[in-house]
Amino acid sequence: MNEGLLEFLKREREAEWRIELRSKMKNKERTELERIHMPEQDAQLRSGNFKEVNEGLTEEQALVEASRCLDCPKPTCITGCPVGINIPKFIKKIESGEFLDAARVLKETNALPAVCGRVCPQEVQCEQVCFYAQKLDKDPVAIGNLERFAADYERNSGKISVPEITKKNGIKVASIGSGPAGLAFAGDMAKLGYDVTIFEALHEIGGVLKYGIPEFRLPNAIVDVEIDNLERMGVKFVKNFIVGKTASIEDLKKEGYIAFMVGSGAGLPNFMHIPGENYIGIYSSNEYLTRINLMNAADPQYDTPVISGKNVAVIGGGNTAMDSVRTAKRLGAERAMIIYRRSIEEMPARVEEIKHAKEEGIEFLNLHNPVEYKADEQGRVKSMKVQKMELGEPDASGRRRPIPVEGSEYTIDVDTVVVSVGVSPNPLIPQSMKDLDVSSWGTINVDKEKMQTSIPEVFAGGDIVRGGATVILAMGDGRRAAASMDRYIKGRVRELLSLIGEFKSIGDILDFAR
Ligand SMILES: Cc1cc2nc3c(=O)[nH]c(=O)nc-3n(C[C@H](O)[C@H](O)[C@H](O)COP(=O)(O)OP(=O)(O)OC[C@H]3O[C@@H](n4cnc5c(N)ncnc54)[C@H](O)[C@@H]3O)c2cc1C
Ligand code: SF4
Repeated sequence: MNEGLLEFLKREREAEWRIELRSKMKNKERTELERIHMPEQDAQLRSGNFKEVNEGLTEEQALVEASRCLDCPKPTCITGCPVGINIPKFIKKIESGEFLDAARVLKETNALPAVCGRVCPQEVQCEQVCFYAQKLDKDPVAIGNLERFAADYERNSGKISVPEITKKNGIKVASIGSGPAGLAFAGDMAKLGYDVTIFEALHEIGGVLKYGIPEFRLPNAIVDVEIDNLERMGVKFVKNFIVGKTASIEDLKKEGYIAFMVGSGAGLPNFMHIPGENYIGIYSSNEYLTRINLMNAADPQYDTPVISGKNVAVIGGGNTAMDSVRTAKRLGAERAMIIYRRSIEEMPARVEEIKHAKEEGIEFLNLHNPVEYKADEQGRVKSMKVQKMELGEPDASGRRRPIPVEGSEYTIDVDTVVVSVGVSPNPLIPQSMKDLDVSSWGTINVDKEKMQTSIPEVFAGGDIVRGGATVILAMGDGRRAAASMDRYIKGRVRELLSLIGEFKSIGDILDFAR
């Protein structure tokens, strides 16, 4: 944490209301309180419905949990937050019962707190470096649950604060993609007075927040509130518009857009390229989840098909795999299995997702890898051959390398397989702009501070730059891109003004420009 920030936090901590709050309870009493467990839907019940699993803290629970926070002089928690939320301040606002103010503090640095409170991996970010976890070896303050509480309180109160907007300047800028990177970018640019349009390829706004993460983890209604807010700030949304196909960036420039933010994500699924992977009933997790989340495939009243298999195998160990397998269970699978080539400790999914999946009756076949699929005479998958694995030395990722155990293959009956072994950047934008500097992985290369690409008026952030990361990182990128695009545009305007100064009259300028 840099000295300037520490100084600022110290000054804030010395505010009268914070001193008074700290004096109300001794630190010893605070640290003796147990972390409040978030109420959740019964596992048996929830594995048959799409309602949210976590039910949120009550006001009483939030007050107790907030009082566990020690309002540390050096709040290490902040260093673990990718967007630097003023964590002790928002928590102390909760402790003092000023829930709307708590939400306001969150929104100073986080455009989507209700989303992040639900899906951020706090256990490896802010909560991992909380004083409780670092020095007391106790459960950290439930920062994520408190963030969700404050954001939900604000939404339910109907008093959502729409940020103040600088006088509109009429300058047209565009975001390509409406995921968290594009949304965060749009919010900041609208605040600065720009005329912002988001172009989205799909028929829904929200990116992975809508098409990937299922209702039982992140209800669409929560994302919609954030989108409505942007609309109220004047952001325009154009759906079913594929930049690079429907129109190119050059076409958009002719329409008056002068700068662009590419937040097109990493939605291109990876496959394993093993025999039989093209059989009917084998989906990528993106297709499987999109059909269900965006196209109502699980609802018999809709025409979009999806196979509600009885024996479903999901290949992979990340959040996407966990979302797919838990979705399959909710669609009636009798056997919903995770097939993952490493051990449970190496799974990249959030600890909470793994715990919830286990409670819901998901089978974990760790140290297993599929090697071949077999189909019936109609070409529909009916079984898969899997091979057992053991762990060797750590590889480049730092995780122990899975090694196949010779002769350990056996067959499992399956009627649906969801392949969830990672994603690659969406290739359309990188391919459609020849001067854009792109890495060998297909991600767009940017100046990390400015998020500016090799084309000065094009900025980029989120998964298209990082190649599959997290919501909060995508949002942070979107916000940085907005700040530097604003500086870039203002710089250009200043350049033009200095040129204009050379002319004697408006007439001369017009003559010159003709
Ligand atoms: C199933 C799943 C679960 C996840 N769970 C979590 C989690 O729990 N916590 C977490 O932090 N992260 C999670 N992630 C990762 C996280 O969602 C992403 O890192 C994040 O959404 C990236 O944001 P983005 O804005 O870069 O891209 P996206 O959210 O992918 O949005 C990109 C948007 O751009 C649109 N687009 C693409 N090309 C074009 C084009 N040419 N023209 C117009 N529009 C275009 C796409 O349709 C899409 O809507 C999960 C991801 C998945 C798939
Ligand atoms: S480190 Fe933990 S206890 Fe200290 S201010 Fe942050 S949340 Fe509170």
